[in-house]
Amino acid sequence: KLILAIESSCDETSVAIIEDGSLILSNVVASQVKSHQRFGGVVPEVASRHHVEEITLCIEDALTTADVKPSELSGVGVTYGPGLVGALLIGISAAKAFAWAHDLPLIPVNHMAGHIYAAQFVEPLQFPLMALLVSGGHTELVYMKETGSFEIVGETRDDAAGEAYDKVGRVLGLSYPSGKEIDNLAHQGQDTYQFPRAMIKEDNYDFSFSGLKSSFINTVHNAQQRDEELVIQDLAASFQESVIDVLVAKTIRACQEYPIKQLVMAGGVAANQGLRDRLRAEVTKKLPGVTFIVPPLRLCGDNAAMVGAAAFVEAEKGHFADYQLNADPSLTFMTIKE
Ligand code: ATP
Ligand code: MG
Ligand code: FE
Repeated sequence: KLILAIESSCDETSVAIIEDGSLILSNVVASQVKSHQRFGGVVPEVASRHHVEEITLCIEDALTTADVKPSELSGVGVTYGPGLVGALLIGISAAKAFAWAHDLPLIPVNHMAGHIYAAQFVEPLQFPLMALLVSGGHTELVYMKETGSFEIVGETRDDAAGEAYDKVGRVLGLSYPSGKEIDNLAHQGQDTYQFPRAMIKEDNYDFSFSGLKSSFINTVHNAQQRDEELVIQDLAASFQESVIDVLVAKTIRACQEYPIKQLVMAGGVAANQGLRDRLRAEVTKKLPGVTFIVPPLRLCGDNAAMVGAAAFVEAEKGHFADYQLNADPSLTFMTIKE
């Protein structure tokens, strides 16, 4: 079955053609990063305008690249949340128009489910599994009893991991988004600044990154005031070690408590090399029998291929939408509190 998938929740306009939820025939990603860089973050109105300009071209490009005709498709998947309302609406409107024009069912997709299902392109998902979702707007541990079922077992109480990377990068004068550059700098430095590891010992699976961010900003400002020299590589390494320590410790603990077959890490921050290496090593050491899956780098950030993978699962479950489908900017998974 061929699905055309559309993603427009933030600053990437993307359209993909996916076969049976696991084979990518095309995955066109038009990034707007350059337009937002001078503002130091994503400007919602600018994002919406770009989506309008790009969406039809991306749809045509995805079909041409995959060499697929609309009549060969069996559905149209689209992200309807979470994300920027104006940005989401462009993708939803395009999906409705395309579905109506070609008489195809409309499949609503949760963007965060999409991030998790990106792992499906590496190997088939097996349940139950635990997913560590780390992205620009989310940091959460999600337990999946079976396909299409999502329960949050822990999440950030304040900033998301990616958000912390971007804010800290701004203080260092790096361009937005700065996760990748901090990752690179961190590999050339040492953990000499000793930033806090918030909530690492607490008996829950929640996270907090705002204290780390404040501590980082104070360190930089104090040094600047006293005219002391800062070693940017060491700052990056110290920040990154703190983030990794907490994410890895809590993820491993959650995986020890829940009966799982696989651990998936997904979302933009899953592209972090330090985090990928450390989590893989810890899983090998502490979770015998658990397979660790992380999508390739190009499928960690926002893309429509992941939306197509999730849409396939929704369609198999008979979850379709009608033309009333609306954007849900704060769409979430169910939370289990113990
Ligand atoms: P969400 O998925 O929560 O709605 P989003 O879609 O904006 O948010 P993603 O595109 O999934 O977020 O991820 C973007 C984030 O990933 C940015 O904060 C960026 O700095 C971060 N990021 C990208 N590469 C790396 C890396 N190598 N190390 C750390 N962070 C990274
Ligand atoms: Mg983005
Ligand atoms: Fe995302």
